[in-house]
Amino acid sequence: MGIVENLNSLRQSIGNANVKIVAVSKTHPAEMIKIVYEADQRLFGENKVQEMVSKYEQLKDLDIKWHLIGHLQTNKVKYIISFVDMIHSVDSLKLLKEINRLAEKGSLVINCLLQFYIAKEETKFGLDYSEAEEILNSNEFKEMKNVRICGVMGMASFSDNMELVRNEFRELKQIFDKLKQNHFSHSEAFCELSMGMSSDWKIAVEEGSTIIRVGSNIFGNRIYT
Ligand SMILES: *Cc1c(COP(=O)(O)O)cnc(C)c1O
Repeated sequence: MGIVENLNSLRQSIGNANVKIVAVSKTHPAEMIKIVYEADQRLFGENKVQEMVSKYEQLKDLDIKWHLIGHLQTNKVKYIISFVDMIHSVDSLKLLKEINRLAEKGSLVINCLLQFYIAKEETKFGLDYSEAEEILNSNEFKEMKNVRICGVMGMASFSDNMELVRNEFRELKQIFDKLKQNHFSHSEAFCELSMGMSSDWKIAVEEGSTIIRVGSNIFGNRIYT
C-alpha cells in the first residue's frame, strides 16, 4: 500500500473517535511529507530539532503544524520557537523556563505537553508525578505567561506484552486526570493525552488517548543512515 492509503486506512480504523493523528515523518524526506499533506494531513511530528528545522524550511509554504515529539535540549529551543505548534516533550522546569523566555521575546504562546516516564525502560525521558507537581507549584511556573500546558505525553514500553503497555497508558491517563483536578480544572486548554504509536495506538485510544503519534504505519519502515 502507498502512504496515502496507509493514512486513510488508519483514519478509517480510528473511526469516529475524537483522536488527532500526528504523522511522524522522522527520517523521511520532505517530498513524502508533501504527499501526506495533500491528503489533508496537517500535524507532523519530528523527534530531532535539526531535522525538523530543515523540513520546515523546505516546506515553509505549506500550512503544516509541526510537533516536536523527541527530547529537547534547552539550548536548542531557539531554533524551533518561531514555528513549532506543540512541544510534546517538556520534562524539566529549566526547559519550560527557556521556552517561556524565548516565547515572550517573540510575543508567542507555545503549546506544551508534560512528558511522563511510564515505561519500564531506562532509556526513555520524562517526569514522574512528584516532579511535575514541583514544577507546577513553583513560583517560576506560576509567573509564566508564554507557555500553554495542553496536557501530557508518554511512551509505553517497547514490548509485545500488551497488558503491560495497557497498564502504562492507564497510568498516564490517571496522571492526566489527577493533574486536571489539582492544577488545571479551570483550563480548557489542558485536554490532550498524547499516547500511542504504530504498534500500540489502538490500546492507547481505548485508554483515552486524544493524540496518537504514528510513523511507520503511515510512511513504512524507517531506514536510519
Ligand atoms: C518515532 C516516534 C513515534 C512513532 O513511531 P512509530 O512506531 O513509527 O509509529 C512516536 N513517538 C515518538 C516520541 C517517536 O520518537
